[in-house]
Amino acid sequence: MTGAPPAEVAAIAVDVGGTTVKGALVDAAGRPLHELAAPTSPADGTPVADVLTAVLAGLAGRAAASGLRVVGAGVVTPGTVDETTGRVGFAANLGWRDFDLRTHLEQRVAVPVAVGHDVRAAGAAEALLGAGRGARDLAFVALGTGIAAALVTGGAVVSGATRAAGEIGHMPVHPGGRPCTCGQVGCLEAYASGAAVARRYAELGGRPGSTAGDVAAALGTDPAADRAWQEAVQALALASSTLTMALDPALLVFGGGLGRAGERLLAPLRWELAGLLAWRAAPRLAAAELGQDAGRVGAAMLAYRAAGHGAVVERWTTGDVLGRRATSPGPTTVPPAARRVREES
Ligand SMILES: [Zn+2]
Repeated sequence: MTGAPPAEVAAIAVDVGGTTVKGALVDAAGRPLHELAAPTSPADGTPVADVLTAVLAGLAGRAAASGLRVVGAGVVTPGTVDETTGRVGFAANLGWRDFDLRTHLEQRVAVPVAVGHDVRAAGAAEALLGAGRGARDLAFVALGTGIAAALVTGGAVVSGATRAAGEIGHMPVHPGGRPCTCGQVGCLEAYASGAAVARRYAELGGRPGSTAGDVAAALGTDPAADRAWQEAVQALALASSTLTMALDPALLVFGGGLGRAGERLLAPLRWELAGLLAWRAAPRLAAAELGQDAGRVGAAMLAYRAAGHGAVVERWTTGDVLGRRATSPGPTTVPPAARRVREES
């Protein structure tokens, strides 16, 4: 089962985020045909797994109505995810512990399901079609509420012995430093996550209620913003030097909310990182190119590869996977469908 699948096939790609479950029907050229989104934790208390089932069922129904055959689904989620078994070891924010997500979904939706890790999937997408195009050794660092990385070595994403490779948010950058939500102290996440930057800015007397994005926007005009940002950059530079020594990457790609700061982050980070490396050159630093679509693209790659159509993925182009928005009016929010599917099952 190699080569191109017939034109009338599609895969379902689903990215489980902290606030939204985003799904899409993706054709064999990697183009999103139809999108469907639902709140991860709806006010009515619907469990995440049921929201996920509803999104999958909704997209499968849409495919059937359009005469498309679904070859499989790729579902990417945070947590410790075992791609080979489809089990989630632990996902704190989703309330899953040792959960057989693949079996759970396959029993409810008549589609083969491949389960992946959100950051590793996004990193695989950035490596193939985004800022990492052409590189075989790189790290994709997602700087959001938390921090995690996808480590790509020899073209493959490393998952590790306990499927926790890339949890660099909990890499110590200040021994004996600030407490982290994980129970350790001095973690990168306690200094350079979006939440940490906003918190530090407030501590320094910055405008109350500001987000990390506000801090980035105030750089150069607000000394508290400059200082909070600089501290985060120094912590990130230290973590980046450790990553550089461990992985010898050609480049480091930064995505997530703080990654959108672009050169406001990367320019001082290049300077700090170069200052930490004495005997070797720093890897290239780049901003992610697929943005919030990286998870969907990675999930679609997972689905096609698991279905035996990996060869088509190698022919995808960046323009196609980012979508022809003319055919896609944007995500439809369908909590009522979520409820309906739940009642029927
Ligand atoms: Zn930690």
